[in-house]
Parts: sequence; structure tokens; C-alpha cells
Amino acid sequence: MSGQEMIKVEKLNKSFGDLHVLKDIDISVKESDVVCLIGASGSGKSTLLRCLNFLEVKDNGNIIFEGEKVEQETHNINKVREKVGMVFQHFYLFPHKSVIENIIEAPIHVKKVPKKQAIEDAKVLLKKVGLADKENVYPSKLSGGQKQRVAIARALAMKPDIMLFDEPTSALDPELVGEVLSTMKELAKEGMTMIVVTHEMGFAKEVADWVVYMHDGKIVEVGHPKDIFESPKEIRTKEFLDSIL
Ligand code: ADP
Ligand code: MG
Repeated sequence: MSGQEMIKVEKLNKSFGDLHVLKDIDISVKESDVVCLIGASGSGKSTLLRCLNFLEVKDNGNIIFEGEKVEQETHNINKVREKVGMVFQHFYLFPHKSVIENIIEAPIHVKKVPKKQAIEDAKVLLKKVGLADKENVYPSKLSGGQKQRVAIARALAMKPDIMLFDEPTSALDPELVGEVLSTMKELAKEGMTMIVVTHEMGFAKEVADWVVYMHDGKIVEVGHPKDIFESPKEIRTKEFLDSIL
């Protein structure tokens, strides 16, 4: 919780045409921090994560990754992106590849890890996410919860320094949410730095070091989960929590 600064965002702005989606976002995430990002649909949570992973190009502001200011023009974005794992609501597994082939794809082709090593690493990761027996199965044979755990293993296979999760359980049947959250909880316990966009307030209460509440493209409030959930300072935070709890 009190490690080195991993990502710092200063005065980040992003528009789509006339739509100003991120407004002067400031955020700082330290090594091993778990940050839960909450807010209504359309408040800019996904856009913020996508900017942090350079899937979107910011308009202005600074993104400082591990102490270095990242600029699209001067930086090898792909190198930084390798260190930022991302898990989406929809899993985007390759349907024509087996579970283990999905996991070794990027290490082999992007990072040039020898295949034998990649397979060994993938097996360790599959064990970690509780799917050691599924390595040769195709995604269509898996439940949503299993697919999402494969997606997590696939992101981890690149040995990222930080993991970004964008509503990883929102597309799942309710009975499958728990297995994905426990996998994420384990990761947090191991010290992985994580930013998690979620509507799972139980998870946020239990696992987050910080909760960030966004509204209309701005960060309205940042605090410890206990403070945010029990005594939010801002009326808008309170109204949002009342509306969902
Ligand atoms: P959230 O994840 O909090 O629901 P998003 O970041 O997805 O919010 O979206 C914030 C706003 O930006 C929404 O109004 C959305 O319609 C808009 N938006 C997101 N992506 C695009 C895009 N690629 N082009 C145009 N508008 C977009
Ligand atoms: Mg979103």
C-alpha cells in the first residue's frame, strides 16, 4: 500500500468530438494498491482505463508510468502496454484456440518467450486460476466464469506490473461472479497492483485500498472504502451509492 508510485495521471482530458468525456483527471496508484473505480454508466470509467492502456489517445495531460512520462509520439507504447494487463467485460478469447494456446499466444509472439517456457508458465497460471484441468479445452466449452479466469490468466502471462479490470463480472450469470472475484482477491493478496471498474460493492469494501467515485467525467471523491461507503463527503457520492445499494 505504501510502495512506489506505479501510475500517476495529471490533468488528463479526453473528448470524442464535442463530447468531453474525461475532465482534468488526477489519480495516483502505488505499487500493490487495489483501486476500485465506481460511477454510473457513461461517467468515463472505461475511457479512463483505455487511456491508461493507451487504447485511447488522450487529448492532453500527463500519464506517468513507473516514473516516466509516456508520450504517444516518443514512447514505444507497445512496451508500456506489455506491462499493463487488461481484462474486459467480454473475454475476447480466441475461439479457435484452446485455453493454453490462448494464454501462450502473446508471450510467444509479442515477448518472444520460447514456446516450452510459455507453456510451463501457462500451466502455473492455469493452476492459479483453478483451471489446471482445462488446458486443452476450447473456449466454447467453458462457462462465462471459466472464460473470464482464462482471460485473467492470459493477461497475467505477459507478467504485467499492473492489471486493469473493466467490469470483469458484469456479463456473468450471478452464480459465476464469485469465482472470478475470488481469483481477483487472490491476485490482490499476492500484491498485484490493480485498478478495477466494478459494481460489486462487496468486493470494493473488502479488497480495495482506495475507492474512486467518478461522475460526468470527473473524479468526485477518493477515499478508503469504509469512508466512501459509510460516510461519503460528497452529496453526489451518497446519491450514487443510495441508487445502487
Ligand atoms: P463508463 O465506462 O463509465 O460507462 P465510458 O468511458 O464508456 O463510460 O463512456 C463515457 C462517455 O463517452 C459516454 O457518453 C460514451 O457514450 C462516450 N464514448 C465512449 N467511447 C466513445 C467513442 N469511441 N466514441 C464516441 N463516444 C464514446
Ligand atoms: Mg464502461
